[in-house]
Amino acid sequence: MRSSHRARQSTRHSTPRPRALLALSVSVGLLFAGGCASPGSSEADRAESSQSSTPDSTPAPSPTTPAPSEVGANELGEIPVLMYHRITPEPTSVYDRTPRQFRAELRRLAEEDYVPVTTSEYATGRMDVPAGKHPVVLTFDDAAESQFRLNEEGKPAADTAVAILRDVAASHEDFRPVASFYVTNPPFGGEQAERKLRWLHEHGFELGNHTLDHPTLSTVSASEVTHQIAGMRREILDAVPDAEVSTFALPRGVHPDSEQLARSGESRGTRYHHDAVLLVGARPAPSPHAAGFDPLNVPRIRSQGDSGSGAELGSTAWLDKLAAEPSRRYTSDGDPSVVSYPADSSVTPAAESEREFNPY
Ligand SMILES: [Zn+2]
Repeated sequence: MRSSHRARQSTRHSTPRPRALLALSVSVGLLFAGGCASPGSSEADRAESSQSSTPDSTPAPSPTTPAPSEVGANELGEIPVLMYHRITPEPTSVYDRTPRQFRAELRRLAEEDYVPVTTSEYATGRMDVPAGKHPVVLTFDDAAESQFRLNEEGKPAADTAVAILRDVAASHEDFRPVASFYVTNPPFGGEQAERKLRWLHEHGFELGNHTLDHPTLSTVSASEVTHQIAGMRREILDAVPDAEVSTFALPRGVHPDSEQLARSGESRGTRYHHDAVLLVGARPAPSPHAAGFDPLNVPRIRSQGDSGSGAELGSTAWLDKLAAEPSRRYTSDGDPSVVSYPADSSVTPAAESEREFNPY
């Protein structure tokens, strides 16, 4: 497959491609249809994405997509995976953010040309981000009601994270209202939990696993680890049978003694396999196309202002650093099937990939 990619490479920026827009929308549709596939479907996903790499359906840059060098594309660059907990007007810990702070952070991201993608899209490299823009992953742990509840009209209640995110997206072009929720039991306060999970899934949000009871996984037996993960997966799938549940956030960022059990396992007939396992701290995550990408240990950045305990490792500090060193950041070439990066990049590309690598 890689050799056919190479063969196409010589023509991709020189020949006009009138079918490009149609091809792009059809194949992006195909790619994202994979995101709603049946449980445990990573095999199916791989089959789907290799199908979409055949010449007739490969995503092609639209005629207006600028060359990677024009936008400084760097798809080996780093991606902030931001971590949120409660969104509350009365914070009680460094993990809480107020609705006002959350809205301000989202506006900053939009103004600095970040585009939200889900953890699953990040981990599988299926990031559909316009040329010149930067992916960011918004993750929410513990399924707090302040993240999401529905009002009497069946819409996200004002000042919940979901309402604020959709509000900011509506007023910023290209800013997608997507995020990944790491769900524990009971989800979002328990009341109407199934309805809330379905609403999130139907509106493009990712449902991820955060265990049933939030134990520190290093302190429990292997069978309890698999029970905690498989049990939560089953709860989510009971509410949303076509959810993928392909990513996992470690409670408190702590691995089980057997780290592989965070990735794959089985309990009472329920199997799980995760494309990404999320830590708690404390730096930007590597590109999924870089050799350093480790799906078992994806770092996150706590959402935080510029003061308080640990602020030097919080989101304000990291977004400042990435803005000051733009060459570190992942910048999209606008073509999900091609990985473009400066030929003199200090980052080593992954040895294996379904995608075409395009150093320039
Ligand atoms: Zn948690």
